[in-house]
Amino acid sequence: MLYIHIPYCRRKCLYCDFFSGGASVADWPRLVRALLAELAARIGELPPRIDSIYLGGGTPSMMPPADFRHLMAGVRSAISNSGRRLAEDAEITIEVNPEDVDDERMQGWEECGVNRVSIGIQTFSDTLLRRIGRTHTGAGAAEALAGIRARFANVSGDLIFGLPGQDEAQLRLDVERLLAAGTQHVSVYTLMYEEGTALTALRDAGRLQPTDDETVAAQYSILTAMLRSAGYEHYEISNYARPGYRSRHNSGYWSGRPYLGIGPSAHSYDGHSLRRANPADLFGYLARFAPESGATASSPDGAFYTEERLSAEERREERVMLSLRTSEGLALADYAADFGPEALGELMRQAAPHIAAGRLRRADDRITLTPDGILIADRVIVDLL
Ligand code: SF4
Repeated sequence: MLYIHIPYCRRKCLYCDFFSGGASVADWPRLVRALLAELAARIGELPPRIDSIYLGGGTPSMMPPADFRHLMAGVRSAISNSGRRLAEDAEITIEVNPEDVDDERMQGWEECGVNRVSIGIQTFSDTLLRRIGRTHTGAGAAEALAGIRARFANVSGDLIFGLPGQDEAQLRLDVERLLAAGTQHVSVYTLMYEEGTALTALRDAGRLQPTDDETVAAQYSILTAMLRSAGYEHYEISNYARPGYRSRHNSGYWSGRPYLGIGPSAHSYDGHSLRRANPADLFGYLARFAPESGATASSPDGAFYTEERLSAEERREERVMLSLRTSEGLALADYAADFGPEALGELMRQAAPHIAAGRLRRADDRITLTPDGILIADRVIVDLL
């Protein structure tokens, strides 16, 4: 699995703590050069067969079509020149924002083999969009979604709930409009007040009233019920898919598959215990991998990323956290084989009260969160750690 981080956005959304720089600093040809140079340097971290490429960000859809073609052609040749193979049925996903969707860009994505588009709708309400600093309108999102659905057979839509001032009627309308467009996959996220974001500053200054926890939980139950009754599988806490349309890439993260992430702030994992993280330093990244003519690459001999070797205890905790997010849950035999029967015994002791209270279910040698457990997933999971 290959992840490519595109670190530019038109404007920072008020709630966002992802790493991205403003469009005004975007130097697309140089970014593409840097990404391809990093890929060439780290191609050995990819397996012989690559079955997923995910372009995330930031806002990958902002990339001009010519640069996008150059990037994807370079990725394909780096893979094949290294003796590796991009699977025929590889899932190639791009994250897009509605304001970038036009015929020329969609044609470019299609020609480059993109076969899955994940569009950030968040809500169709103009008032709520403005409140969280999104740059598109509800009508613009609907139009972009229709355009994408007309060209791509696998489309995912993101919604945010718990928006300040969002009522149940608006929430239902958002889901209905997304369903009417026929998206195969839906991701839903609670609005988070992350440290250092403009949204958190507004809340702290009393200029914005956050939605209370009870309403947020009720909204999540409504979303889930609507999506389930429309035939979507609730396969991960935040993700719902029509049968056959689960995200291969994200499922890989939750099941502990190895991945290589390139670009500033991108993370990688070897599938065992080694994690690598590129610093969130756009200019350092460009200087390292695409020095301006005449300049020398900074620290050309050292790795740009930092490394972290996970202890057995950290791997155990990650296994519990990631697998309980999914509808498959935690496989107990694998857990015992990897961490020992004593660790399993301890886990089951901690799980017992939650099983008795109906927040966890044990069946087929697995434990999974029940719908009640999902509502307080963080608390249940922390108890198991
Ligand atoms: S477009 Fe996405 S990555 Fe960019 S600021 Fe908004 S939420 Fe963050």
